Parts: sequence; C-alpha cells; structure tokens
Amino acid sequence: MTYSVPQHRNLLTALPGPRSLALHKRRTESVSAGAGTLAAIYMDHGSGAILVDVDGNQLIDLGSGIGVTSFGHALPEVTAAAAAQAAKLTHTLFTVTPYENYVRVAEKLNAITPGDFEKRTILVNTGAEAVENAVKIARKFTGRRAIVVLDHAFHGRTNLTMAMTYRPWPERAGMGPFPGEIYSAPVSFPYRDGLSGAEAAERTIDYIVTHIGASEVAAFVVEPIQGDGGINIPAPGYFQRLSEFCTENGIVFVADEIQAGLGRSGAWFSIEHHGVVPDLVTTAKALAGGLPLAAVTGRAEIMNSVQPGGIGGTFGGNPVSTAAALAVFDLIERDDLIQRARQVEQMLWDRIGHWPSRYNVVGEVRGQGAMFGVELVVPGSVTPNPTALRAIIDHASSNGVIVLDAGSWDSVLRLLPSVVISAELIDDAATVIEESLAALSTVVTE
Ligand SMILES: *Cc1c(COP(=O)(O)O)cnc(C)c1O
Repeated sequence: MTYSVPQHRNLLTALPGPRSLALHKRRTESVSAGAGTLAAIYMDHGSGAILVDVDGNQLIDLGSGIGVTSFGHALPEVTAAAAAQAAKLTHTLFTVTPYENYVRVAEKLNAITPGDFEKRTILVNTGAEAVENAVKIARKFTGRRAIVVLDHAFHGRTNLTMAMTYRPWPERAGMGPFPGEIYSAPVSFPYRDGLSGAEAAERTIDYIVTHIGASEVAAFVVEPIQGDGGINIPAPGYFQRLSEFCTENGIVFVADEIQAGLGRSGAWFSIEHHGVVPDLVTTAKALAGGLPLAAVTGRAEIMNSVQPGGIGGTFGGNPVSTAAALAVFDLIERDDLIQRARQVEQMLWDRIGHWPSRYNVVGEVRGQGAMFGVELVVPGSVTPNPTALRAIIDHASSNGVIVLDAGSWDSVLRLLPSVVISAELIDDAATVIEESLAALSTVVTE
C-alpha cells in the first residue's frame, strides 16, 4: 500500500501546537462545553494510521475516531467513490424514490452477517439510531416491551440508548427521565468476576428470570466485545448459553457490532468468536470509511414484521455514504483486511502482552483483533486507577500518540488502531506509553 503521508511520527512543535491552541480558544467560545475533548489537537489530514495536525505534526492514531477509520484515513478508493457519487446525486430519500447503492449495501450486509437464513436490512445514519431501530423492530415482532442490556454496555446517546448505556457519568447524568422497560443485567467480566462463561450466564439468566420474567423480554441487546465498557470480552460459553436461553424463550438476540464488527475483531463480526448466530445485528462505525451510515440486519421474518413507514428516516442510507460503504467492502476483500486485523492482534500481543508482568500499574492486557484494552490498577491491587489513565493519555497525546479511554471506572486504556498500522508504528507508540507506565508503576524490591 502507498500512503500520501509517510507512516511515522514526526513532531515539529510542542503539542498542542500554536495553531491548535488558537483553534481551541475559538472552539471554547463557540462550541457547547457538552462536547468534550480528549486531546485538543486539531487535525488537518490523514493517511493510513497517521494523522497530520494543523501545525504539521504527524501523530500515530491508535483511536481511529473510536473505531471508525478501521482501514486507514482518507482511503483513496473510498474518497473517489464518494466524490463520484456526490457529483451524480446526493439525495432522493430511499423511501420516496429508491436507488441501487442502498440495495447493494443491504445485499452485502445480508450476505456477510452470521446465519444461513433469509435476511433483510434497514439503513440509518448513526449507531444509536440503529440500536433504537433494533429495539423497535424486536418489540413489534414479539409484541413484548422489556429490553435487557448488560452492565458496562454502551449503546449510544439518544434518549432511548442513554437508558441502555450503563454509566451515569458523563453519558446520562442530569438528562433524564429515561424510557422504562430497560433492564441492565450482570455481564461476564472475567478480569473482575472470575466466573466461567457458564457460571456468568446462569447469573445473567437468574437476574432476567427474577427481575423481569423471560416471557416479558422482547430483546437481549449485547456487545460481544464491550468497547466503551473497557474491551471486556465475556468468558467462552457465556453468549452461547444466553443465545440458547433467548431461543427457548422467544427473545430476539441482538448483537451490537457497531464498534467490534466489520473486521476489527479479526472476523467479520465479533459474535462469531463466541460461536453464536444472532437474530439481529447492528453496524455503524467502520461501515462507510468515516461517512455516516448505520444498519440493522437480520432474520427476514423479524425485519419484515414492521408496517411500511414504521422505520426509516430522511437521510438513512444516503447515496454518498452507501457509495463509500461499497468501496470499503471492496477494499476489505481486495486487501484481505480481516486477516490484517489478526496480524495487528499478534503484533500487539508481541509488543504489549508482557505489560502486566513488567508494570504493576497494569492489571491486565486483553484484546481481539485490532481492539485492545489495558486495565490500569493501583499497584498491588485490582482497584481501578483512573488517575493513571489520565496521565497516560496526556503523556501520549503530548508526544504524538492518540489513544482512547474506556471502562466504567475510567481506568482502561483503549487501543483501536486501524488494521493497516505497521509493527514499527505500534513499537514507537508502545515505547511512548511505556514511559508513562514506568513512571506510574512502583518498583517492587524482593
Ligand atoms: C459508538 C457506539 C454506539 C453509538 O453509535 P453512534 O454512531 O455514536 O450513535 C452504539 N453501540 C456501540 C457498541 C458503540 O460503540
């Protein structure tokens, strides 16, 4: 692959640089404080795994805008497809007068999502909108109201999806009331609960049976790998048992693949690692290479249970976003980018897998594909260490490495690099993060 920006870190100014600082002042005076800022470094362009800021600094991107630019920044093939479509037609509204791109994206999602049965798809704009539609469709199909989600889940920031999101702060605090009939059940969290998949599944099922009643539940909505919750990968067997429970009780199993899906985990969909076939799948983030597009895909009888006009929206499945998505699918297959995600996983294990034994501020390193979490703890304990996370993020971003936070206790360093990142860039970024880890760890003398 060739890139328009050399794939290495290069700093010309202190970070944030003077132009970023000036923009940040304007932003503070013009943009709602409710839109937070992880690192006040303003970007100008990007290529592959490198972002270039307005001062000309080249930064290593280990966040991909929270798992959106999974296949690299400003992909020439995707840009060209979107530009060509924008010059032809930008909007008709699919439910007024349709167009082929929408149908082609639906065909593709129906083909790649797990399950050897008839499927249908609806396209919308954002992840939260996809989750909302999955809930509406499951309720319509089952005639039931209760929705079960899992502790530490993140499903979005609209009013319904805030109610489905675990953390009160900052996602929900002060912004209720929230819709009822949303229940958060205990999840399998191997690092924190030490339960086997079967044991954790029984705990979840017991919660559903004793708090809600299985026959009341329309849908069980889960992230097969919890992203914002701290890259929590439930124990083997957990989702299998819950999928059986859903089937036995007529509950729609919804895999929220918005962050972990579309290749990032080293499979098309992260639920595949658990050997489960969901009834519905939601996708968004990586779907259109950075343009807004999201989808609900699943069993035809469920998706078709909604009356015409019952789901949709003005911009959903926009011609330009769908053109970009088709180019993304071509690229994934042409360059075998799912295999690349598995290679990035190996590179990350090789480079950072030993952190818990070297740095006692690290409790665990976990991950799958190009999706890793580093659990930060108070040395010598399993107590979450948000102060350490803040220090690492500040050190990394002021040294040209963009990383993400995660976890209900704000104590998980989240790495979501694009799958095209090189071993050299991972090594360089890890060296920067290690400077922080060494400073935060206590030296243990025997
Ligand atoms: C990001 C995310 C969402 C919400 O997507 P938006 O496009 O921000 O609305 C929902 N579910 C998961 C798992 C996500 O990671």
